[in-house]
Amino acid sequence: MPELPEVETVVRQFVPLLVGRRLTRIELLDDKLTLPPAICKTPRRVEAVERLGKQFVLRFGDGAPLLAVHLRMTGRLKWHNQPSAPDTAHLRARFILEHGEMLFYDLRRFGTLVVASSAEELAPKGLDPFDARFTPKWLFEQCQRTSQAVKPFLLRQDRLVGLGNIYCSEILYTARVDPERPCNTLTRAAVARIQRHTIEILERAIEHCGTTFSDFQDSRGEIGSYQAFLAVYGREGEACPSCGAAIRRIVQQQRSTFYCARCQR
Ligand SMILES: [Zn+2]
Repeated sequence: MPELPEVETVVRQFVPLLVGRRLTRIELLDDKLTLPPAICKTPRRVEAVERLGKQFVLRFGDGAPLLAVHLRMTGRLKWHNQPSAPDTAHLRARFILEHGEMLFYDLRRFGTLVVASSAEELAPKGLDPFDARFTPKWLFEQCQRTSQAVKPFLLRQDRLVGLGNIYCSEILYTARVDPERPCNTLTRAAVARIQRHTIEILERAIEHCGTTFSDFQDSRGEIGSYQAFLAVYGREGEACPSCGAAIRRIVQQQRSTFYCARCQR
């Protein structure tokens, strides 16, 4: 499932291809996708491509509505400007420009296209980890309000947006915090480590996605070859890179959590 770093990577890839260019029309190839016909037929200049939570958002000039693509489970966006016809398997929509097209593929068809009059309408309820308001103080205040275990808390999209299951295990391992610790028992220092490593791990993942972008695309939305940079996720029974103890797997709210019981307190 594309997580925040993957969506950010896709946005960065498309900025130079789309910004300042004219989107001439949109063709929908799947009955599950709906857009007002005027949106599909009216040519508009793309003013910006940005990420809002895990949505890929196109902004246009002249006060035209915004268009968001939510990739969900298996959606992906691919650029095509070859003379040959594009691959049509699982192709759901074509965004046609003068110099090529952005193709929306979606194997499982959970992806959506949404039109909104403002970014506020699309904005997720939770805070983006790259928002300047995401500070140790803010996170500590949120943690004080709940006795929920810290791992499922980090996954809550109404608090912090875009942290997926893999990243939550990695963040807590790097911050040396027990995933089962109730949030309101965390010290300020522990919360500050979680905050810092959240940003660091996401930045590293974005950097990594950038260099393995073709793998990411080829894997149809699955995370590509970045297993190598994960310290604990998917490594049950392997030695902790820091202390050598066996990495454990537990299930919290139906999701696997990987951690080192010796390093994470
Ligand atoms: Zn360890």
